[in-house]
Amino acid sequence: MAKPAPRELEVIQSSRITPNMQRITLGGSAMAEFPSDQQSAYIKLYFPKGEAEKPDVRTYTIRHQRDGEIDVDFNLHDDGSSGPASLWARNTRPGDRILVGGPGPKKMINQEADWFLLVGDMTALPAISVNLAQLPEHAMGHAVIDVMDPADIQTLERPLGIQLHWLVNPSPDPKGERLVEHVRMLALPDGTPSVWAACEFSSMKQLRQHLREALKVPREQLYISSYWKLGQSEAQHKVTKSRDAEQDRA
Ligand SMILES: Cc1cc2nc3c(=O)[nH]c(=O)nc-3n(C[C@H](O)[C@H](O)[C@H](O)COP(=O)(O)OP(=O)(O)OC[C@H]3O[C@@H](n4cnc5c(N)ncnc54)[C@H](O)[C@@H]3O)c2cc1C
Repeated sequence: MAKPAPRELEVIQSSRITPNMQRITLGGSAMAEFPSDQQSAYIKLYFPKGEAEKPDVRTYTIRHQRDGEIDVDFNLHDDGSSGPASLWARNTRPGDRILVGGPGPKKMINQEADWFLLVGDMTALPAISVNLAQLPEHAMGHAVIDVMDPADIQTLERPLGIQLHWLVNPSPDPKGERLVEHVRMLALPDGTPSVWAACEFSSMKQLRQHLREALKVPREQLYISSYWKLGQSEAQHKVTKSRDAEQDRA
């Protein structure tokens, strides 16, 4: 089936929900055709460049969906590493318009498990929030989330058996060790785990190795993805990511 053409949505509201997270509410008449129940699905945002150039395309998660509106939470990372999406989120105002592709398929944690582990940074916080809110009430396990400032910690709806571990680091982790080091220290329950993780590329690679080799998480119980790569734009990261996927399959 052909992909639907991107829709032109309107900025309804923009608010700084925590120091490094800007929530943009998108709506407008083109939302009439938008499928329902798409929280955690990804969308593609189109940022125009020069007339003869293709737009920059960036990927984001639907944090909430209401009748005719979606919320998208942007991690602001403008200190020396600004990109079109982060800049736009910082500056856009109600009434502005933007082309939005998708939604693409949701990648939810496999709920058939004895315990759960969710890991990510601020780019994955929207998807982790939706996943946590949808876990069964009796679910047990851990969520490890790296944020930039203590005030970026959010109150998350979750089963009480899921322990939250907030790591606070103002700048990215060039060696990609922080998340995996924290996961190594967790006291994990017995039984079959289910893991959902998304973060920076180097962090993802270290986590993936640990989850597969040390924790022996079965493939069907593991969703792991890199959402961005330090020093690369999304277009460059896409190339790195598909090369990594090829090597990982080999
Ligand atoms: C499926 C999926 C869902 C995603 N959902 C979200 C979401 O809901 N919210 C969200 O904030 N992000 C999300 N991301 C990540 C987001 O797409 C990237 O961070 C993207 O690169 C941001 O685009 P940009 O134009 O701001 O920066 P780019 O032009 O892509 O990059 C410019 C520079 O900024 C650096 N950079 C990019 N992101 C970060 C960051 N977070 N911290 C520090 N440096 C960075 C790059 O390394 C590069 O050097 C998602 C990614 C994927 C694949």
